[in-house]
Amino acid sequence: MDLYKYIRNIEHFPKAGVHFKDITPLLADSAAMESCVEQLLAMIENQKIDKVAAIESRGFFFGTLLAQKLNAGFVPVRKPGKLPYKTLKEPYQLEYGMDALEIHEDAILKGERVLLHDDVLATGGTAKAACNLIEGLGGVVVQCNFLLEIEFLNGIKKLQNKPVKSLLKF
Ligand code: 5GP
Repeated sequence: MDLYKYIRNIEHFPKAGVHFKDITPLLADSAAMESCVEQLLAMIENQKIDKVAAIESRGFFFGTLLAQKLNAGFVPVRKPGKLPYKTLKEPYQLEYGMDALEIHEDAILKGERVLLHDDVLATGGTAKAACNLIEGLGGVVVQCNFLLEIEFLNGIKKLQNKPVKSLLKF
């Protein structure tokens, strides 16, 4: 199924000058969702995966579904202050200013094979920070897997020497 038609462009969101890719039309269609999960799974070359780590919040939509299909555990990577147990924290650069992501210290065991999933790869700062957290716990990032990639922002450069796969490219 061609999923491009389920991605809606929103101009000037969340601020002036930004062209936002809205995935909610895809989420609203059960056949498109099902096809999307199948296509995301087909991108995973070595499906021996212990954990799927996904980034708050839009990464959670497909991250949990992928984890189920892969018989893997699910690990939420969240914005600061959201996770209740002891966390590892990784700051990262935004276009203007800084943000950070956190992961529970016991979420990934040393040597576990981890698939990182998020909805969008843009500049790559978010995914890179998530990879640092996974690796900080001793996990091995076997693939970074995205629903869509905004190619001109060149996020793939920040994820050098990791396999990166995106279903849709803009
Ligand atoms: P990056 O750190 O790669 O610049 O930004 C990626 C993060 O920002 C992802 O977590 C993603 O959810 C969010 N993001 C950035 N641009 C877009 C967009 O156009 N559409 C959606 N749905 N998310 C975006």
